[in-house]
Amino acid sequence: MSVTTTTAAADRSVCAPLPVLGRDVAVPLVTGGEVTYAALDYAASAPALQRVWDDVAAYAPYYGSVHRGAGYLSQLSTDLFENARRTVAAFLDCRPEDQLVFTRSTTDSLNLLARALPADCQVFVFETEHHASLLPWQDHRVTYLDAPRTHRQAVETLERALADRDPHGPALVCVTGASNVTGELWPVRELAAAAHAHGARIVLDAAQLAPHHPVSLRDLDVDWVAFSGHKLYAPFGSGVLAGRADWLRAAEPYLAGGGASRKVTRREDGGVDVEWHESAARHEAGSPNVIGAYAIASACKALTEAGWDTLVAREQHLVETVRAGLARIPEVRVLSLFGDDAPRVGVISFVVEGWNSSHFAAALSAEYGIGVRDGLFCAHPLVRTLLGTDPQTQGECGAPEAAPGEKSLNAIRVSFGAGT
Ligand code: PLP
Repeated sequence: MSVTTTTAAADRSVCAPLPVLGRDVAVPLVTGGEVTYAALDYAASAPALQRVWDDVAAYAPYYGSVHRGAGYLSQLSTDLFENARRTVAAFLDCRPEDQLVFTRSTTDSLNLLARALPADCQVFVFETEHHASLLPWQDHRVTYLDAPRTHRQAVETLERALADRDPHGPALVCVTGASNVTGELWPVRELAAAAHAHGARIVLDAAQLAPHHPVSLRDLDVDWVAFSGHKLYAPFGSGVLAGRADWLRAAEPYLAGGGASRKVTRREDGGVDVEWHESAARHEAGSPNVIGAYAIASACKALTEAGWDTLVAREQHLVETVRAGLARIPEVRVLSLFGDDAPRVGVISFVVEGWNSSHFAAALSAEYGIGVRDGLFCAHPLVRTLLGTDPQTQGECGAPEAAPGEKSLNAIRVSFGAGT
């Protein structure tokens, strides 16, 4: 039995179990044993591009450990790894003095940055953030900002909070480029200008922005950007933190170990002295995920070659089509912070009156072959604000258990992109 992904709805009258890793999953069966499935959960993880799989397969027989060996494969891998760094830096339009660290994911990147903040750094973050950008700052003084209802309000809220801060200490603002719940774009350039006007720095969580729009550090004038490979049509396990080098260079290495250290010597008192690298290697201790970095670079090239104008236009057409379809169903309420006219990417969350979201999502999968996400999307405060009620919080990111017929307390999310 094979599985193909498509946007066409499957024949809902016939359901069959699909053996996946020894587990049966109910999916609709179309003809000849072919399963048709529309995986509309790109905001969680987008399917890797064929081009990425092909590039990885071509390189896989030749990989070796980077930065270490004199052998041909080691040198080849070192070149590919460092070329990948340059490709991704170009994709993000980094400034020449910026540093680009390969990490495991956006979560990893933001935790790395949190560890690199000066000790007295004050952090400002909207309550609407994904937990990955809401939570890593707990070791610092954090000001959580209320959810704004317009872009203007977002900028004014930030400006007010920054005006009240201690103007002498360092400060960081963390903001998402596109919401993983509503898909709405945030006014990043304006927020960056407000941050800088008040002497603060800003990090952009581009996990949901980078797969849908070009991200330019220079143009947005953000200090750092973080994103994940697996949402950008590359496989799991690799991510990026790019931006200003000074705090990263001054910080203790994120992980202590080989690759991050330039020189290690025994002291007379029996201890050990370490000189750490000042380059990105400082925060990349251990054998890095070379294939992951290579895959991200491959995805960056593929998206750039496809052309952002084409990708954005195609995706916006899909967004309008899905929103128009949902608008025809009276029971559906689409969730939005900034209103109907807000610019957005292919991430749409909604509730269906009279339906529990987890049952609705299960029915979409089992009867129509449409895979969506339901729950709180790792953004509890935002979903709470959007629903105007206290959602069920048993399931951190996914769907909590609910009794049949229970009122819809969580949301359903469809997400897609034009990359595949
Ligand atoms: N930020 C946003 C806006 C996200 O949507 C996500 C994941 O859904 C993350 C951060 C965390 O990404 P990862 O799980 O790849 O670390």
